[in-house]
Formats: sequence, C-alpha cells, structure tokens
Amino acid sequence: MFEGGLKLIGFKELSKEKRIEDFPAPQQAVIPLSQHTGIPAKPVVKKGDKVLKRQVIGEAGGFISSPVHSSISGTVKGLENRLLPGGKTSLSVIIENDGNDTAVEGVQNDWKNMEPGKIISLVQQAGIVGMGGAAFPSFVKLSIPKGKKAECVILNGCECEPFLTADYRVMKEHYAEVIEGLLIVCRALSVKQSYIGIESNKKDIAVLVKKFLENLQTSVSIEVRILPEKYPQGSEKHLIKSITGKEVPSGGLPVDVGCVVFNVQTVLAIRDAVCRGIPLTERVLTVTGLVKTTKNLRVRIGTPISDILAYCGADLRPELKIVIGGPMMGVNIASPEIPVIKSTTGIIIIPEEITPGDEIQPCIRCGKCIEVCPMKLVPAELGRYAEAKNWDMCRNLGVADCIECGCCSYVCPAKRPLVELFKWAKSEINKEGKSK
Ligand code: SF4
Ligand code: SF4
Repeated sequence: MFEGGLKLIGFKELSKEKRIEDFPAPQQAVIPLSQHTGIPAKPVVKKGDKVLKRQVIGEAGGFISSPVHSSISGTVKGLENRLLPGGKTSLSVIIENDGNDTAVEGVQNDWKNMEPGKIISLVQQAGIVGMGGAAFPSFVKLSIPKGKKAECVILNGCECEPFLTADYRVMKEHYAEVIEGLLIVCRALSVKQSYIGIESNKKDIAVLVKKFLENLQTSVSIEVRILPEKYPQGSEKHLIKSITGKEVPSGGLPVDVGCVVFNVQTVLAIRDAVCRGIPLTERVLTVTGLVKTTKNLRVRIGTPISDILAYCGADLRPELKIVIGGPMMGVNIASPEIPVIKSTTGIIIIPEEITPGDEIQPCIRCGKCIEVCPMKLVPAELGRYAEAKNWDMCRNLGVADCIECGCCSYVCPAKRPLVELFKWAKSEINKEGKSK
C-alpha cells in the first residue's frame, strides 16, 4: 500500500444502483479535434459535408495524437473554436443531426489469432484514448519503446474519485466484454500476467468477476485484487505500488517497472474496436450531486453538457458549481455549453467549497499537506516557490512528479490553491523547456 492519500466520503450510493441508460443523440454535436493528450487531429471534413456516424472527421496530427470520429450522422455546419472542460479551446466540428443514425458498417474480427501489430493498428484507427480522464492515446501506450518490456497488464477498476460510478456500472453490466478487452490488451503486449484492481467498496464486482473467471479458458493469468478504499488508489503509480509493490521511478513510466495500466472503459472500447471495428464515439458517465435524478448515461461524444443537465433536472443556482470529472481532479465549468469528450467521466453539481468570507490565507505551516501527499512532495514549500515564480526551485522540488490529485488542497486549512499553483508551475516549466 502507498503512503499518504485520503479516506474520502464516497457519495457513490447516490448513483451506484442506476443502470446505464442510453442518452438520446444530440440535435447538434460539437466534436473537438483536440480531446486527447498530444497533437490535435487535423480536420478532413468541411462545411456542408454529409457525414455518417463513426466516420473519420479528423485524422491524427502526429504520433502522439488520435483520430476523431463523428458520433451522429448529419451535415457539417462548420468548424469553430469551442471551449473545452479546463478552459482551453479546440477547433471543433459542428454537426447537425439528420435523425437517421446511419453508421459506417463495423467489421467482425477474431482477435484470438490476430498479430499484436494488427491489434495496435485497429486501436489507433478507432481513436481510443485513456477514458479514465488522462486521454492519452491508447495505441501509444501499447507501443512499448525499444529496450523496455511489459510484464503485466493492470486493469484499473478503482474509480477512486468520490461520486463517480460509471466504471462501476460498466464492470457490473459488461464484465465479460471488459475481460475480453483485457485479454486483447494482453495479446497486443504479449503478456501472460494481468491483475484487476478493485476498491473494497465494490466487492460485488470482484465476486462477479471471480465467478466468471472460474469458467474462462485462457492462457493469461488474471488475478482480482481488492484494495483498500484510499484516494488516489486509481492513480497509475499508486495502483502499481499497491498491486505489485513496485515503485515507478521519478519521471518514469509504468513500463519502466514492467507494468501497463488501462481503465475499464478503455479496454471495453478496445474490445469494440478490435472485435467489431467500432471507433470511440460514445462513453458512459455519471451525472450526480444536486440533480433531480442521478444517472449513469451512455452519451455520444459531442453532446452538450447543458442537454444532459436539463435531462437530469440539475439545480443550476449560481452558488452551485458544475464539475466535470470527479470532485478531486475534475474542473469547474462556467458554462454548460461545453461538449462531452472522450475523457468526461462525470458531471457533478455541488456547492462551492470556498464561500464568501472563507478566503485564501497564508500558509500556517501545519504540515497537513505533506502528510497526505502520495508522491512524498512538500506541497507547502512548492506552493511558496510557485507563488514567487521560482520555477527552478519548483523543478528541484519535483513539481513534475505531482499527479494533481488534490489531496494537499483538500486538507489545507488556509485554503491555499496548491494544485492550481502546481499546474501553473508545470506549464511554465514546460514552456521554458520548449523555448530552449
Ligand atoms: S496535488 Fe501534487 S503536491 Fe498535492 S498532494 Fe497531490 S501529488 Fe502531492
Ligand atoms: S496544509 Fe496549507 S497551511 Fe498547512 S502547511 Fe500545507 S500549505 Fe501550509
């Protein structure tokens, strides 16, 4: 088990028992060409073009990039810069729905005899990215660099952020397909050992999965590991430590210790891409908090968040905030006219935690942030250097290792915006690196 971290109240019972529902296709989809880590996709459609559901509308713009597909059939109304969760903008393809849902035909494939290279190529073409929030192109993760070797695949079924239950529902309702996706990933990496990490608040899933595995014929070893409820258990580095005892070195990658980690919905999307020839155009997300009806919805990429909030009867009083993702690592959005993207894990309506009169104070050196930091950093000091724009000291103190989990900000009695400071420091250091 890793040091630091927090035991948080889960609030998962609000939506845990809600079966996945298909959310209606939007009248108009806004599909950003940059919804993944890396270079934005290049548009291959223009205003007036007719497009099919699952048709490529943006080609990968480089190696670390991903193609983008239409989630509906209809007519391209234009290409515009639109806001993304997190405040950045992206060139986006605006598509008017024709109501027909005419789709590019899928192709049935038998993955069991497929070459690893073919699997990786299908994952690339299907535009699959990490759906747990990171949005890193999955085919890049599957392309192990020369000199490194993957020894095990870890399926991340932790969903350790409070409120979110989408992955839980996917595992509960589609565990056979999820495990098939895991086996496809193992084949792509030529790996014979895998683990499924599940937090102890989802033991029912572990029972289902273990029962299923009893009758499964496979040469891959799949071990289910029930892990304590501790945030950020689902962070790649902490999951690896909890399951294998190995520590990913500072600045390193999971594959440096022989591990590759995939999220539940990502392996399901990989399975759909490889077995059925279906690209990533929809995902399951949780809508919860101050809404009339909490839900786990299967939503087309590009659906405006405002449509979903109206459907669930969200309380939109100005003193409440709309969070995209979990409450710890998610982002607040000012306007719900933002689309669902491949990495949207949830939409939560919650009260502002900083109320008027509850202002940011100077650090009182209580040390709480240091106790909870799962990366063994010294957030108080890092925060002071970031405020002073001393990027060299931020670098020396390991700001690059900060996983932006939010534990330090959460416990800080002075309400210091530590994570924001670290994100800022990282982006400034990054800019410096690029200008050299
Ligand atoms: S946000 Fe960064 S510094 Fe703060 S607790 Fe998490 S890893 Fe540590
Ligand atoms: S928790 Fe806040 S007040 Fe306490 S040492 Fe850290 S930054 Fe300072």
